[in-house]
Amino acid sequence: AVPRRLSVQLHPYGSGRKLLLSRDVTAIDQADTMRRDFVANVSHEIRTPLTVLAGFIETMQQLPLEESDRARYLAMMAQQSQRMQTLVSDLLTLSRLEGSPLPGTGEWTPVGALLAQCEQEARALAVGLGKQQDLVVDAVEGRELAGAAPELLSAMSNLVTNAVRYTPANGHIRVRWRDLADGRGEFAVDDTGPGIAREHLPRLTERFYRVDRSRSRETGGTGLGLAIVKHVAQRHGAELRIHSTPGTGSTFSIVFAAARLRTVSAQAGDVPA
Ligand code: ADP
Repeated sequence: AVPRRLSVQLHPYGSGRKLLLSRDVTAIDQADTMRRDFVANVSHEIRTPLTVLAGFIETMQQLPLEESDRARYLAMMAQQSQRMQTLVSDLLTLSRLEGSPLPGTGEWTPVGALLAQCEQEARALAVGLGKQQDLVVDAVEGRELAGAAPELLSAMSNLVTNAVRYTPANGHIRVRWRDLADGRGEFAVDDTGPGIAREHLPRLTERFYRVDRSRSRETGGTGLGLAIVKHVAQRHGAELRIHSTPGTGSTFSIVFAAARLRTVSAQAGDVPA
């Protein structure tokens, strides 16, 4: 349990009398600590690639380099600057999610289109990482999801790209959609990656929390992906679920309420007879 902290003030009132006011500031203290931790984390995440970049620049300034070394150094520098760009872009996504109004139920997006877009991104990433994996994506027809399409896509594709990043070559990944018996709908990603030990699960959606820092970095991770997914899910009244067995694989899923789902006729635009 967190020890509570009270702020106490004496307020003069009436003729020489004083009123004792006390206020529980525990929550304010906690928010302060979280803000400080966040700034420290961001600074650290930016400083690491910057240090590497500065090192390469210095070396290149001091030494005459062979053309092949020069090309290699530049490639590594490009990778570090890409890393900073991804970090900044994830930070902006999070801050936008915090500042924008909750998505309503006026905008509908076909579930099939969201899954198809995830598939494209996953395949492109797998090629980029030089991984050959068995990726299967459900074809979904006639189901639509209400919310902010860019947010939904970013949450779903974060889960799919994580599966690609953490699953070894020759592994299996399945992206699926399931209509639950009670009217809710589940988007899920199964992988045959390393899995995650139980003690890490409650902390996975914290900003910058990573089970294996170097594995995350190698594949371009910022440690913010699942924080974004959780945020988007919450904003859509949906629930992020994580099941994982170390050594076997993981399933990350988002369960959407029935109110955010609808079925449309497969042939949109058909006029009923
Ligand atoms: P990162 O950019 O590090 O991947 P995320 O917030 O997306 O950040 O994920 C947090 C951590 O959760 C990762 O560093 C990794 O340790 C773990 N993780 C996420 N997805 C998977 C997965 N599919 N398989 C195994 N571990 C995962």
